[in-house]
Amino acid sequence: MQVLYKSTRGNEETVTASMAILKGLSEDGGLFVPEYIPKLDVPVEKLAQMSYQETAYEVMSRFLTDFTEEELKNCINHAYDEKFDTDLIAPLHEANGVYFLELFHGATIAFKDMALSILPHLMTTAAKKNQVKNEIVILTATSGDTGKAALAGFQDVPGTRIVVFYPKHGVSPIQEKQMVTQKGANTCVIGITGNFDDAQSAVKKMFNDKELARELDEAGYQFSSANSINIGRLVPQIVYYVYAYASLVREGKIKAGEEINVTVPTGNFGNILAAYYAKQMGLPIHKLICASNENKVLYDFFNTGIYDRKRDFILTSSPSMDILISSNLERLIYRISGENAEKCAALMQALSQGGEYTITEEMKAQLSDFYGNFCSEGETREAISATYYGSDYVIDTHTAVAAGVYQKYLRNTNDHTPTVIASTASPYKFPGSVVDAISDRYEGLEDFALVDALSALSGVKIPRAVEEIRTAPVLHDKVVDAKDMPAAVKEFLGIR
Ligand SMILES: *Cc1c(COP(=O)(O)O)cnc(C)c1O
Repeated sequence: MQVLYKSTRGNEETVTASMAILKGLSEDGGLFVPEYIPKLDVPVEKLAQMSYQETAYEVMSRFLTDFTEEELKNCINHAYDEKFDTDLIAPLHEANGVYFLELFHGATIAFKDMALSILPHLMTTAAKKNQVKNEIVILTATSGDTGKAALAGFQDVPGTRIVVFYPKHGVSPIQEKQMVTQKGANTCVIGITGNFDDAQSAVKKMFNDKELARELDEAGYQFSSANSINIGRLVPQIVYYVYAYASLVREGKIKAGEEINVTVPTGNFGNILAAYYAKQMGLPIHKLICASNENKVLYDFFNTGIYDRKRDFILTSSPSMDILISSNLERLIYRISGENAEKCAALMQALSQGGEYTITEEMKAQLSDFYGNFCSEGETREAISATYYGSDYVIDTHTAVAAGVYQKYLRNTNDHTPTVIASTASPYKFPGSVVDAISDRYEGLEDFALVDALSALSGVKIPRAVEEIRTAPVLHDKVVDAKDMPAAVKEFLGIR
């Protein structure tokens, strides 16, 4: 049966999956959600025999119903290939009594690769299906991780170009090196003299600039976004929860049908929402444990029913979770409001105007699938060191937030259901904080010396993504003022 997509904010219009991917956001400002969540009507025993790619087809074909089998398999095979450093794509590692689902084996060693390696293919296929003749130009402002993952995903994908803006003095040295060494004739990386917000605002302005859109169209281009609210990023993320469950069954760690818990280090609420959708599809998940760092808006929300972003933004050692507006939460709000778009739109308006909203008791009662908690910086360090000294396994700072929260969950509930923790980044991406949590012998080392220290401590081979940038030549050295960003985009596209 066909799954169509509708907006969380009203507007009765429904669109096909491919249109939802092309548009990214509904015209009324809402997010696209499936009209219903399809059931995963494949026996677990069968899933347990499948490769990652086969599992991806089973899950994604249920959601992206206007893609043909050939189109979808083609996208999957181009995404989950030797860019990943293991055939398993998303392996499980058992340590300290839990299963770490390693989502960092792709090109940029963070979980964003799981979705951004397939999004470009979904997008170009969607463009063809909908007779879009223009080349797609992806515009992204990044504070570090997303930009690199998007660059790696779109690199040399025919019919696409990608321009990434980053704050010249606002990303880590490894993150900057990762971006400015990016290969691919269709990629462009530009530093800006302002901060991330300046870059973000200027990108939003370009998306809304009608005159610029006209100039692009004349030259055969149109903008699109690789933002995490695109359903083309959400759907591929459901896959690895199903795959993890099936892997546990295959390895005899759980029986088919037995429940598991899932713990997710959360920022924009995309990853944990994918786990929620997996549960709605019928995957036996008991609790969805939402882990926050010191920016604990979501913890407060799950406890009080009040979402309040009016607070100081805290810079932590898990920067990809330093977020006060979790955009994808809107899809959950919509669901627990009884799919009441008017109610959802009103709450979102309250958030953008007054900085907060409160859900009803009735809505709150439907949050029982979730448990929220948070880790302080100290608790995050402790989780890294406890995992290392307890199991000889090194986890990154984001994963550590989840591991720490899971320990709190155990103490609070005594629920010993087998648990999967989404491990969202390789420790090699944040060597400073990780090494520091394990030992004080390495103080004052520069980034690549820390990488070597980490290799010595963990015994894990240094990922290709890190080795490569050690010696890779800088290919992008342009730096502009935020106000000159449109001109820089036009120059890259050869307009005028
Ligand atoms: C983006 C990111 C997260 C947060 O994921 P959301 O889907 O935004 O909740 C967590 N960890 C890492 C390493 C990330 O890059």
